[in-house]
Amino acid sequence: MTEPRTVTLPTEDHGDVTLPEPSWCAGHAGHRPDSARIDVMHVGSAVDLTFLGIEVFTAELVQSPYSASTVPELGGPTPGVSVWPLGRTLDPVQMYGLAAALDSYADQLRNLADQLTAILTEEHR
Ligand SMILES: [Zn+2]
Repeated sequence: MTEPRTVTLPTEDHGDVTLPEPSWCAGHAGHRPDSARIDVMHVGSAVDLTFLGIEVFTAELVQSPYSASTVPELGGPTPGVSVWPLGRTLDPVQMYGLAAALDSYADQLRNLADQLTAILTEEHR
């Protein structure tokens, strides 16, 4: 049996804090020693939608084990998926809802492309 993975992070208010490191966490390379323990956050690898070099959308697993937040959409001890530019942390049901909304939006984009193709074809006759 393997030992549970842990990570030790220096904090301004609680010194070195050792906590369990979830398997999905991408590490704490950006951790600042002058940050408070309440701000410690596990973050997974980002899933980005980048188009024409512009980051349109990004989502990543997050968990703030010491957060006292009671509003799940603002992040907290329960893992969630942080979505930018929504600025919300979503649960699985909300994530499926977002994916369905994006599917529907993709259909609307294809409709626009169809309309534009028809307009441009008409103009070149
Ligand atoms: Zn972590």
